Amino acid sequence: MIIVMQVTATEEQIQSVATRLKALGFRTHISHGDVMTIIGAVGDKHLIETESIESMEGVKQILPIQEPFKMAGREAHPKDTVIRFSNGVTIGGDSGLVVMAGPCSIEEDPQHLFNIADVVKESGAQFLRGGAFKPRTSPYDFQGLEEAGLKQLADARERTGLLVVTEVMDSQEVPLCADYCDVLQIGTRNMQNFKLLKAVGRQDKPVMLKRGMSASVREFLLAAEHILYQGNENVILCERGIRSFDGTFTRNVLDLAIVPVLRKLSHLPVVVDPSHATGHRYLVPPMANAAVFSGAHGLMLEVHYDPDKALSDGAQSLNLKQFGLVMEDLKKISAFHRGLTRHECLLH
Ligand code: PEP
Ligand code: MN
Repeated sequence: MIIVMQVTATEEQIQSVATRLKALGFRTHISHGDVMTIIGAVGDKHLIETESIESMEGVKQILPIQEPFKMAGREAHPKDTVIRFSNGVTIGGDSGLVVMAGPCSIEEDPQHLFNIADVVKESGAQFLRGGAFKPRTSPYDFQGLEEAGLKQLADARERTGLLVVTEVMDSQEVPLCADYCDVLQIGTRNMQNFKLLKAVGRQDKPVMLKRGMSASVREFLLAAEHILYQGNENVILCERGIRSFDGTFTRNVLDLAIVPVLRKLSHLPVVVDPSHATGHRYLVPPMANAAVFSGAHGLMLEVHYDPDKALSDGAQSLNLKQFGLVMEDLKKISAFHRGLTRHECLLH
């Protein structure tokens, strides 16, 4: 439900309504608007008599939340979520473009990851990505270095100051992955692994949820809702391409229209992954540029020191030189895009 406060409501009155709701087991979010404040409250409505809240000082009225995604939607949380990291990097809202880049899989030699990380850092990206637990279609393919890979990632963070993001595949491995990284990634294959969603929702590290390869917008936002409902408010949505009838020239179909759709429906930051969406490196730069124009807050790009030698996803990985060039273009494009006001007008 949405508690609409009176225009004259004091901060004390607002806080006491929120405190009361929390005591009744509700998840609350206070949105201070230009004119009035609203409190979004999600929980079991049967536990309270709404009149007892309605009669509290400063309350104007109580409205039901109409959207199925009560916490991910904008109805009860109109303002963009901005996620802040310890080193000052932010993602969401009006923050600048955030780039997450690195190899598909973390491989045996740590020096290779360091070489990639150095270029990722020098080029101006904010995150190093790398898979240690790999969800491979075939059991005969490289499955990842597991904790040894996570250690490499942590060492690369230490060396460069980059934030790190890695995929977690199993609810039992959540504490381990959370110890080593700044953002936990849920892969496309696990978008509806509800046990895993609940597990990442019960810990503090931000979560990047990739869209299931056949998931509708509704299913995607409801998967995010599972994480939010457990108490973790820092969820990033990632479009990474969906399945269609023709996989001949592109691995998936990059659904860029979902970016403004998600931004209209939800306050959560949106990232686009053109590497997994297209499957071919020559398609990555144009789709990365287009993602910025679609309104994405961030990009996830696969980069390898020698893509032909990559243990996974080499065909879609940029080499280090290409990555540097792509970053130069992205900086210009994102500065130009931020200068456009029309885009923001159309969003709401
Ligand atoms: C990845 O980012 O390493 C990955 C496996 O992506 P996806 O889940 O989108 O296939
Ligand atoms: Mn990959």
